Amino acid sequence: MGKPTGFMEFKRQKTKEQQPLARIGHFEEYAQRLTDEQLQTQGARCMDCGTPFCHMGIEIRGSAAGCPINNVIPEWNDLVYNGKWQEALDRLHLTNNFPEFTGRVCPAPCEGSCVLGINEPAVAIKSIERSIIDKGFEEGWVVPRIPRHRTGKTVAIIGSGPAGLAAADELNQQGHTVTVYERSDRAGGLLMYGIPNMKLEKDVIERRIQLLQQEGITFVYNTEIGVDMTAEELRAKYDAVLLATGAQKQRALRIEGSEGNGVVLAMDYLTSVTKSYVHSNFEDGQAMNVEGKNVIVIGGGDTGADCVATAIRQNCKSVVQFGKHPKLPNARTEETMWPKDPNTFTFDYAYEEVDAKLGRDPREYCIHTEKIVCDRDGNIQELHTIYMEKILGEDGFHYFKELPGTEKVWPVDYIFVAIGFEGVEKELPEQFGVELINNRIAATIKDYQTTVPGVFTAGDARRGQSLVVWAIKEGREAAAAVHQFLVREAVSA
Ligand SMILES: Cc1cc2nc3c(=O)[nH]c(=O)nc-3n(C[C@H](O)[C@H](O)[C@H](O)COP(=O)(O)OP(=O)(O)OC[C@H]3O[C@@H](n4cnc5c(N)ncnc54)[C@H](O)[C@@H]3O)c2cc1C
Ligand code: SF4
Repeated sequence: MGKPTGFMEFKRQKTKEQQPLARIGHFEEYAQRLTDEQLQTQGARCMDCGTPFCHMGIEIRGSAAGCPINNVIPEWNDLVYNGKWQEALDRLHLTNNFPEFTGRVCPAPCEGSCVLGINEPAVAIKSIERSIIDKGFEEGWVVPRIPRHRTGKTVAIIGSGPAGLAAADELNQQGHTVTVYERSDRAGGLLMYGIPNMKLEKDVIERRIQLLQQEGITFVYNTEIGVDMTAEELRAKYDAVLLATGAQKQRALRIEGSEGNGVVLAMDYLTSVTKSYVHSNFEDGQAMNVEGKNVIVIGGGDTGADCVATAIRQNCKSVVQFGKHPKLPNARTEETMWPKDPNTFTFDYAYEEVDAKLGRDPREYCIHTEKIVCDRDGNIQELHTIYMEKILGEDGFHYFKELPGTEKVWPVDYIFVAIGFEGVEKELPEQFGVELINNRIAATIKDYQTTVPGVFTAGDARRGQSLVVWAIKEGREAAAAVHQFLVREAVSA
């Protein structure tokens, strides 16, 4: 185990962050690694408790508890504490194909389940994870693993997000010949053009893609299956197909005036900015730019927060973020007791930045958008809102009640709509003839098999918009199911 008394001696220290006012001047990653010595001290805080809940990876009433991919956290904490970095890396790669992604963007449900976290700040698991893999790349320990044998079986993976990439990696290592089809010009799915560069630099993704290519995986870009190649053509060419197409159909705002100029879906804004940054450092002029504008983000989640952080970097005049729900509590409640995700109030990167620049937290809670007023040319000018109260009905359900007298008019030039995703785009599943349930491709976590034999699904396409770590988990498990299918086919042939 780590140092037996480490948790009593050392304070939690997580990845260092550049000061908000400095980091909003650029789009580069703002998180910086701790020194090896600091990280060893952090590893020493792990208590190696009898039952390490941090790696159990289960959902308790819809809330994640522990690491979904079952990273064996106490083991690599101990290895880091003892300076055995390369062994820690090997241990980490056994359960996580892409720790450099999760070490940067995972919300770390593991830390919410850390036993030390019951009465002390949790072990800085995510920071340690990121450092192990970053050091691994720096030291040249991460090298292509070329499969020794090829099975002669072929698999097509549609979609190169974390689910598709994890499945591709696993199936390639099993010796199958894998081709990944991607309609975008680069691999990564939402990692590439959804999650902003300051949270995850795109070179980090490209580095992993190069490695996967060297290991034998073929990537075909700018190819939309269902349009450039039919489902039938694909099925005829491959022994198995995995649909890892995500759930990117965005929910639109449907209120009076929402068709006005300046109302933009959040992902369209974020994608335009990241694409322009990655392609040309903004020189192509393709990024939507809110410099000097009043911005309102509708939707209180993480996508909304990424819009806030992007707008503040573009030097907007003002930015506020509207959420329907009340402010989260500062401490766990009965519904979020340990080892569940604490779901408490946090001051995330975007809010720190707006607070530093404009002197206020940009979030507004329990607010309802009533209508948008446009000028004669259709350009948005005002957003009308009213505050609400969340009440518990006699039937046990929660309701929102408008509070008369709290109406407010907000001057606005841009409204970014971040009110969630409706599910999968239906055209491709329809072409494959697979069944949908609640706008998701139907398949169980037992075999990830759709209603069409030989066609599998994983990631957001199966579970709805979720997290990178769940997508990796599903990609890994779906790959195991595809492998079993190919083995069965080979035996019965
Ligand atoms: C703005 C934003 C920020 C986020 N931030 C975080 C975060 O900080 N941490 C976190 O854990 N999660 C975050 N998420 C969620 C996370 O990115 C997703 O859950 C994850 O990427 C899902 O992975 P996936 O592989 O299932 O699908 P996706 O990443 O959506 O990838 C699907 C891929 O399929 C491709 N595709 C679709 N249809 C076709 C077709 N017909 N032919 C060819 N290709 C096709 C798409 O182009 C895409 O590349 C964020 C999401 C958004 C929108
Ligand atoms: S992948 Fe996420 S949940 Fe798992 S150990 Fe890393 S930070 Fe924690």
